[in-house]
Amino acid sequence: MTDVLIIGSGPAGMTAGIYIKRANLDVQIIEKEYEGTGQMAESSRIDNYPGFYGISGYDLGEKIREHAENLEIEFLEEEAVAFEETKKGFLVILESGKTLEAKTVIYTAGAEHRKLNVPGSDTFENKGISYCASCDGAFYKGKDVVVIGGGNSALDDALLLSETCNKVYLVHRRDKFRGNPGTLEKLEAKENVEIIRNANVQEIKGTKKVETVLLDTGVSLEVQGVFVAVGTIPQTERLKDLIELDENGYIKAGEDGVTSKPGFFVAGDVRTKKLRQIITAAADGANAADSAIHYIIR
Ligand code: NAP
Repeated sequence: MTDVLIIGSGPAGMTAGIYIKRANLDVQIIEKEYEGTGQMAESSRIDNYPGFYGISGYDLGEKIREHAENLEIEFLEEEAVAFEETKKGFLVILESGKTLEAKTVIYTAGAEHRKLNVPGSDTFENKGISYCASCDGAFYKGKDVVVIGGGNSALDDALLLSETCNKVYLVHRRDKFRGNPGTLEKLEAKENVEIIRNANVQEIKGTKKVETVLLDTGVSLEVQGVFVAVGTIPQTERLKDLIELDENGYIKAGEDGVTSKPGFFVAGDVRTKKLRQIITAAADGANAADSAIHYIIR
C-alpha cells in the first residue's frame, strides 16, 4: 500500500512527487512512457518558465526529472488502465495486469492530440502528418509544410518550421487567433510564412505520402508535411465512472486538486482550468500534493 500513486510524469506529476517525497510519504510515479505525459517535451523553446529563458521543453523536463530522481522517487513505466475504490483507498490496474494499491491517487495524465478527422487524415498519419514540429520538423528542411490551428501550439510550430522549411502555410478556421499576439506578429513578418484565415482542411491527398491539402475555400496547397495543432483531448475516459468530469471531459477540481472523489486528486492540463502551461501544471502538482498530504495525515 503506497501513500500516493501519481499517474503521469509531466511537470504536474513530477512536482507532486517532489512535494510528497519531501513530506516523507511513500510515492510512486506511474508513466506510460518515459516522460510520456509531458507534452512539454514537444516544445522546442520555452520563454515563459521563470529562470529558464529559451530552454527546450525536453531539457526542462530532464531537469525536473533529475530533481525527482535525486530525491529517489520511484518511476514505473506502465499504463494505468482502470481505477477502483477500495475500503483503504484505491486499486490501480495496470495494462500488464498488475495491480497497485494506494491510499490516495494524484492523476496528472494530461491530454492527447486532437486529430483532424477528414478524409486522408488516418491514411497519412506518420506519412507526412505530424503532431510535433520540434520532433519531426527536421524531416521537412527545405520543404513546404502546412500548420493547422490557431492556438499557441500552432503559432509556435509555424515559427519553428519557418526557420528551416521553404514555405510554411498556417491555416486557421477563424479570423482571430487564440495564441500569443507577439508570436503571430513574428509570423506575419516572415517572408516564407503565409497565413490563411477562415479555412478548414477538407481532405489530405497523396499517393504514398502527403502531397496536397485541400481547403474548404477551394484552395489547394501542395505540401510535403502537415503539422496538426488543433488542441488536445483530456485523458479521462477511464475515469468517467469514478469522478465528475466537465462537458469537455476535464476533471472538475479547483486549484487544490480536490475532485468529487475523496482521496483522488488531480493536477495539470487534465483539470478544469483556464491557463494550461508548464508553470501552472507544476503549481497544480504542488497544490494537489499538499491536499493529498493533508488527506493522509488528517
Ligand atoms: P488550443 O489553445 O486549444 O488551440 C487549438 C486551436 O485549434 C484553436 O485555434 C482551435 O480553433 C483550433 N481547432 C480546434 N479544433 C479544430 C478542428 N477540428 N479543425 C481546425 N481547427 C481546430 O490548443 P493548443 O494550441 O494545443 O494549446 C493547448 C494549451 O497549451 C493552451 O492553453 C496553450 O496556451 C498552451 N500552450 C502554451 C504554449 C506557450 O505558452 N508557449 C505553447 C503551446 C501550448 P478556435 O480558436 O476556433 O477554437
